[in-house]
Amino acid sequence: MNLILFGPPAAGKGTQAKRLVDGRNMVQLSTGDMLRAAIASGSELGQRVSGIMQRGELVSDGIVIELIEARLPDAEAAGGAIFDGFPRTLAQAEALDAMLAGRGRKIDLVIRLKVDDAALKSRIAGRFAESGRPDDNPESFVVRLNAYNEQTAPLLPYYAAQGKLVEVDGMGTVEAVAAGIDAALAASGD
Ligand code: AMP
Repeated sequence: MNLILFGPPAAGKGTQAKRLVDGRNMVQLSTGDMLRAAIASGSELGQRVSGIMQRGELVSDGIVIELIEARLPDAEAAGGAIFDGFPRTLAQAEALDAMLAGRGRKIDLVIRLKVDDAALKSRIAGRFAESGRPDDNPESFVVRLNAYNEQTAPLLPYYAAQGKLVEVDGMGTVEAVAAGIDAALAASGD
């Protein structure tokens, strides 16, 4: 089973992906976590992406596609992947489909955590100080939200056309959203 958790920044994708991993034989593939690990390690890649991430812009497709490709064998061995924060552009989505097809695999389901921009901004405003992420500040968050609306949201029709898209209300408590995701998975036959 290969699942994409889809939604704007701070929608709760990471939290929900970690919960899903705990209950299943799957691995979480978060490009944001991989890039933050590269920055923490001081690697050449980390140095290249740190300014871009801090501003809230997207790093290049080639970088994240390569990061994901390197992790696909692990995900297969585990029984599947939960993609969190990837794909974020049409080029990434097409590359993911091609990489999976080349390995005889596919995306089974895309779960969109549906949240409202205005509600999202007020919900997360109080969390900036405590998150510890350099891109969790009002200026970078606006850039991240714009990147989502302009470059990532257009993937919704791409997955809808493949009949893979389901929507879950992402505005409730962590438990309520988790229940919505479980119901969507059950309805899909998982
Ligand atoms: P995230 O933790 O998913 O919110 O990602 C944090 C930041 O990492 C983003 O704002 C981007 O700068 C970068 N990033 C993570 N995943 C991607 C991706 N799939 N494509 C481009 N940039 C990404």
